[in-house]
Amino acid sequence: MAELRKDYFLDRFTIISTERANRPFEFQSPPVKEEEKCPFCPGNESQTPPAELVLVLREGSLIKLSDLEGEPIRDWCVRVFPNQYPAVSVSSAEVYGNDPLYSEPAYGYHYIIVATPNHNEAFSQMSVEQWINILTTVQDRVRWLYSKKRVSYVSIFINYGKDAGASQSHPHLQLLTLPRLPPIIEQEALAVQKSMQELGICRMCSILNVESGGPRQILTTSSFVAFCPWAPRHSFEFWIFPKRHQVSFLRTTQKDIKDLAIILRATLGGLAKALNNPSFNLVFHTSSEKKATRQIHWHIEVYPQIEKWAGFERGNGMYIVQVSPERAAEILSSASKRELAGLLGAI
Ligand SMILES: [Zn+2]
Ligand SMILES: [Zn+2]
Repeated sequence: MAELRKDYFLDRFTIISTERANRPFEFQSPPVKEEEKCPFCPGNESQTPPAELVLVLREGSLIKLSDLEGEPIRDWCVRVFPNQYPAVSVSSAEVYGNDPLYSEPAYGYHYIIVATPNHNEAFSQMSVEQWINILTTVQDRVRWLYSKKRVSYVSIFINYGKDAGASQSHPHLQLLTLPRLPPIIEQEALAVQKSMQELGICRMCSILNVESGGPRQILTTSSFVAFCPWAPRHSFEFWIFPKRHQVSFLRTTQKDIKDLAIILRATLGGLAKALNNPSFNLVFHTSSEKKATRQIHWHIEVYPQIEKWAGFERGNGMYIVQVSPERAAEILSSASKRELAGLLGAI
């Protein structure tokens, strides 16, 4: 059971999800023999709900299987199953509340995508091939989730490392569906719509014109550009955008998926090398696939967790960072370019 409540005054929402309090928190115990008890590791598949999608490499080609027919599938390279401790639920009670105590059921689905069978293989170390497998799996599952009732938005995110809020250190992604658009996506969509109407160009396309080749650019590939935003909320925060106006990650072609895998691997590799493998959150911002919703220019935002938000940030919606985005871009750019050169040499 889960409930979605709106703040008295602000366009801000909270999911009250009491079941999540039961989830195990790996970091509480010393990380000894992690792989033996990690529920995301090969051999421990029975500790998670059955996987609804398992990607397996057989005779050089990838095939999609599922655990639902019997024994858990072994030798997988990506594995997708429902979160045992979901933040949202399809069994949420149909209880609604009115302003100023607005609430609605936090109806939805919450999935885990285990990104690699290797417990200690960080996102910053994976092969481009593995990143392609991950991104293709995300596209597949997000498309499927949008076919479900009461799914207005699918949030795609990564919590990597303890300081980023991960409760398991084994690299994984999460998909969490929402019965409404998150306020940040709504605000971005409003800005895009307004500039389309007034200036005939997407607000985010004009930002890319300003940032491309500028002092905050980190890296560019044929279809994507990575840069540190003008007013970051975290030191070393960076965003990755498709260069061409594209509203949804789901419409990214296989060719561009490869390009995205390269820029993600290179920038995350650069981040890990430059800052000694920090914790980070990574979030996709993409348009909803539901009709009649405003659209954005989809992109990925990465928030390294190097400084903790404190009273000022939590209480005011304003942020203090200790490294300017210009300096951060300089550091990330040289580290990411070295990673990119290594990757291109390996392909
Ligand atoms: Zn593991
Ligand atoms: Zn655009």
